[in-house]
Amino acid sequence: MLRRTICQADVELELEPVDPILIKSGYSTIDGPDMVPVVTYRSGDREYYFPGSSLKGVLRSHLERIARTLKPASVCIPYYDRRRDIKVPVDSERNSDGCSYRARGDNDSSSESYADSCAACRMFGSLKFGGRFSIGDAYPVPGHSPTLEQRNGVGIDRFTGGTVSGVLFDLQALTGGKFRTHVRVLNFELWQLAALNILLLDLQDELISVGSGRSRGLGRVKGSVTKYNLSYVPRTEHVAGLFDFATDEEKTQYQLHDWSPDSPIQLAGGSRRGLRSVFDLTSDWTERLSPLAPSFEQFLNWHGGPKGDVSNRNREEANA
Ligand SMILES: [Zn+2]
Repeated sequence: MLRRTICQADVELELEPVDPILIKSGYSTIDGPDMVPVVTYRSGDREYYFPGSSLKGVLRSHLERIARTLKPASVCIPYYDRRRDIKVPVDSERNSDGCSYRARGDNDSSSESYADSCAACRMFGSLKFGGRFSIGDAYPVPGHSPTLEQRNGVGIDRFTGGTVSGVLFDLQALTGGKFRTHVRVLNFELWQLAALNILLLDLQDELISVGSGRSRGLGRVKGSVTKYNLSYVPRTEHVAGLFDFATDEEKTQYQLHDWSPDSPIQLAGGSRRGLRSVFDLTSDWTERLSPLAPSFEQFLNWHGGPKGDVSNRNREEANA
């Protein structure tokens, strides 16, 4: 995308499990992306961490839910391709084939792919491009390792509601601890910065759950922002996004969203690091950046949802 760095947001995040996080060992779950801690050994000690890829999956599905609530069918269902005969139970989402399976023609350029992609794919990527949002693995803060206990679950027959003899599954429950990770959004549009803040605030308010049994209200995590920096290569005195720095041609090719807050959000006291000016918003990002919030819904309405024709991707690819 644009092949140059213009702006980026860097956030340091601490995650604390509020409830025990259930991990079903040896099972993959079918109720959406699971954020399962993974064990590793560091200087001889067992240590649990949350892989960045699964954190990204949880945050993506949370943002997708918000987007569908604000505007039905505004984001794709990433792995849904109607040619594979998968049934989508909700009427309003029946045309929400994954952006990965859509195209204008045989060889879409990266700007066309970006322009046609839904909000979630523009933010988190698809099979066609990497997306702007990245998050690292979350490791325990020294001195704040979680504890892990073994629990046994009993298999329940879904038909009779009784127990099934011989079906015992292993559950591990992770409690306590504090994990630290880093989030980056590169070359953001202002609505993407708004989307990042929505996710951070929902983490802060314990609205995001991880692990197995999320539907039973388990696995809430609290996220606290310990650092929030915005960096710009071009000079700016207010919070700006990609649209403000792109050429007219880029604005059209990439279909960048033309939006700015009612009055400019001032940036002051930046420090120069190499080519970048870095602004530290750690102490007041929630209030200072709150005027950006409406831009997310306005983007969804303006963009209209995933574009590109499903039939333009060839069948062999769909069946591969
Ligand atoms: Zn999409």
